[in-house]
Amino acid sequence: MKYLLVIVVVLMGVWLWRSRRDATSSGSRPPARPAQPQQMVQCHHCSVHLPLAEARHGRLGLYCSEDHQRRSEP
Ligand SMILES: [Zn+2]
Repeated sequence: MKYLLVIVVVLMGVWLWRSRRDATSSGSRPPARPAQPQQMVQCHHCSVHLPLAEARHGRLGLYCSEDHQRRSEP
């Protein structure tokens, strides 16, 4: 019966150590996306909103895809 108590205490210690290690490792990980808000622009053809970095620059404006740039600027 004494050994059961020792096993329970050891298991609780391991559990606490693992949960604390998981919390610190996930907290130190850098975020996948940048914290700054991205500038959103609108497609000249279909009016969909997309980040400026992903937009295509055409003669008449910005586009979400090469297809829409071709449709608006034949
Ligand atoms: Zn579009």
